[in-house]
Amino acid sequence: MNRYNYIYVNLCANNYFVYVKYYVTFAAGFNCIQMDNIKIFGKGWNFSQDGPGNRLLYHFQGCNFTCPWCSNPEGIPVKGALLVRSEKLQDSFCPYGAIKNRVLDRERCETCPERACVHKNRNEAIRFSIKEYTIAEIIDEVENSRGLFHSGGGVTITGGEPTLQFKLLKKLLTELKHIHIHTAIETNASHERLPELFGLIDLLIMDIKHFDPKIHKNILGISNGRIIDNLVKAAQTDIDIWIRIPLIPDFNNNIQTMERLAEIIKSINRKGITVELLPYHDYGRVKWEQTGKVYPMPDKKIPADDLIAYRKIFINNSIQILKT
Ligand code: SF4
Repeated sequence: MNRYNYIYVNLCANNYFVYVKYYVTFAAGFNCIQMDNIKIFGKGWNFSQDGPGNRLLYHFQGCNFTCPWCSNPEGIPVKGALLVRSEKLQDSFCPYGAIKNRVLDRERCETCPERACVHKNRNEAIRFSIKEYTIAEIIDEVENSRGLFHSGGGVTITGGEPTLQFKLLKKLLTELKHIHIHTAIETNASHERLPELFGLIDLLIMDIKHFDPKIHKNILGISNGRIIDNLVKAAQTDIDIWIRIPLIPDFNNNIQTMERLAEIIKSINRKGITVELLPYHDYGRVKWEQTGKVYPMPDKKIPADDLIAYRKIFINNSIQILKT
């Protein structure tokens, strides 16, 4: 038995059971989420988009922000989300009668004991966002991928918002540091304990979406005070920092906002901060529909001239810009 094996008592949907991890197999797709497993809604590889070199990304489930432009809405609910392709849905997929005339009654799914629809029709009409992994499973996968982390690559933990699973995130980063993997986290930087992770990462990728605390809170649900505090604390360490600013129509797409953000970043006066401006896109639209929600963004784009003008503002403030 290794250090990840221990006994659980689990209470779930009127079922009470005890099991020893790895020694008892229980029904695949059981509706409960094990508290010691990392909940992930996506993973995959990319090159230099989320940190240097070739990187393995893990998208942690759950987010505390309410960005209406989110391109991964299935990653927002902590408890996970069902994604439905209604053109492929059939009433017979649900043994509890929650699908009628190809329309899913999501309220009934909230208390579903087993999510049979997902396991019968995997990856076709309906899927559940969360897959669970132990830290040991992720470390094994990373070890087996070691030869692929070329050009300074490594692992990036992103989301959702990875700090919502703080304890497990910290444990995983500790393990990754122990085996000398280059690590980055991509975060909205709102977690009060974020600075505890700075000694465990090589790169902090953090968003700053707006300078105004009221606007920030109105649109995203949380003020930006702690985000700026955490940036100041990160700047006192020697980790690399990328600040991502999404350019969003009718939210921050104006010269005044970019000038204020440039002022804030300049005032921190730290070498090695890179800013990346990310023009809005609507790639998430389909997934909003698949998760049963109306896509809330207006049909607008960021003009190319605006992007050029905003980049100049940062460059004129001696801030390094990452062009992607
Ligand atoms: S989650 Fe449960 S109730 Fe909902 S469609 Fe699937 S099997 Fe039916």
